[in-house]
Amino acid sequence: MRNWDDWLRVGSLLLLCVHGNSCNGHGVEYSYDLAQPINFAMTDSLHDALDVEGRRLFRRAALHAAEALGAQGGWSGDRSQGAAERPSHNMTVQLTLGDVDCTGDRAGYVRWRPNNVLQICPSMLRERSFVHIVSLVMHEMGHVLGASHVACDGESIMAPDLNCPVRKYSRAARDPERLLWYSDADIEEICRHTSGGICDRPPHAEITPSDSTIESPVLHAR
Ligand SMILES: [Zn+2]
Repeated sequence: MRNWDDWLRVGSLLLLCVHGNSCNGHGVEYSYDLAQPINFAMTDSLHDALDVEGRRLFRRAALHAAEALGAQGGWSGDRSQGAAERPSHNMTVQLTLGDVDCTGDRAGYVRWRPNNVLQICPSMLRERSFVHIVSLVMHEMGHVLGASHVACDGESIMAPDLNCPVRKYSRAARDPERLLWYSDADIEEICRHTSGGICDRPPHAEITPSDSTIESPVLHAR
């Protein structure tokens, strides 16, 4: 069981509260606007820890996460992949190899500050399930945007455990790139912290293929 319980984030939040800083969930260093593109970059440490297939899966997962947020995704390039960066005011999200906080079976984590660093734990380096990789990246992207966890309801990516959205997984297994989106509860939580993208599409319904107009040229390139 991969436990995503982010007690370290809670610890950080308590620490911020002790020090008199923001305790309202907006204690992130960078805020994001989903009306602007989100660019991703892979650090050398993660690049070197993944094999070619792993890099491909994580790149696709990052771009899928941007699409799921209703934002355009861009790639800032790495050692083996040319840049396809989009002009944006948003801080580039760095995918890196997690270390000190990768205790137990943790899959990944994001700290409040800086909140643009998405840490992938070693337990995920050999993962080959696109559904699991993309749900991890979507979950951590919620934290990048400032979102906290939501209840485990069988559908929500922002539940504290990778095993929670089982009903979503069973549908997504048929076609993860078309069927793996945030739940209404995820969107409600995420949109408390950001705007644009999925937050500007009332009534916060999941994006379905028929009403998806998000441009994602890289994601769908086979
Ligand atoms: Zn989490």
